[in-house]
Amino acid sequence: MRYNLSELTLLRCSNCGSDLGGLSTDVIFYCSECGKCWISDERLSPVDIEFVRVGGSDSILLPFWKVDASVTMQDRISRRESSASGAAGFREFTGREMGLTESDSGSRKVRFVFPAFSTNLILSTGVRMHRENFLPEKTEHGKRFRVIGGSVGKDDAELLARAVAVGVEVNRTDYLASVDLEIEVHSACIYAIGCTTHNNVIRINGSKIGILMAAINDCDEMLKQNQVFPG
Ligand SMILES: [Zn+2]
Repeated sequence: MRYNLSELTLLRCSNCGSDLGGLSTDVIFYCSECGKCWISDERLSPVDIEFVRVGGSDSILLPFWKVDASVTMQDRISRRESSASGAAGFREFTGREMGLTESDSGSRKVRFVFPAFSTNLILSTGVRMHRENFLPEKTEHGKRFRVIGGSVGKDDAELLARAVAVGVEVNRTDYLASVDLEIEVHSACIYAIGCTTHNNVIRINGSKIGILMAAINDCDEMLKQNQVFPG
């Protein structure tokens, strides 16, 4: 019988040697003993973690990716309004006459925040969080939190940031005909964001953004984990 080696490896914090508990799908681990956060790839690599809207004792801390990137619009063609003038057709209309405009060339810096755990609506959540102003909190020296593990790795986070960037463009109010953008990721770190559960929804403290528990894969196991290791 063959064993999957990764299932047999007990993960220990590379800094202090404490056990890092988590679900079998987890790749992001926070060591509540020494406060270091790790990503498990082929080995454990450190990743920065910041705390946001921690809240009170009824809060749980969920991991999100914070990705800072430059987004360069290669081509964005939008249709301002539907063009009903086609009936006159003796000549070819130019794109501008048909309501097509090209805009937004150049690069801008954008911060994306989206769940680092698996959901079936990660993109729409990322789009909604995109405009939220999350400022990290100063954590009291020596105060350790319990942070639930995450299952979205760094490579996937960079792919998702691109998908959220496209989603942000698509969600703008004009009639989008096509979008082609490039994204260059400058930094990616973990935000541990305080959330409160209420009526089958996990709501981010101090915001209107909520994630239906039913949309979170392994939600029961994630929350149980938090009860087993109280913060
Ligand atoms: Zn540690």
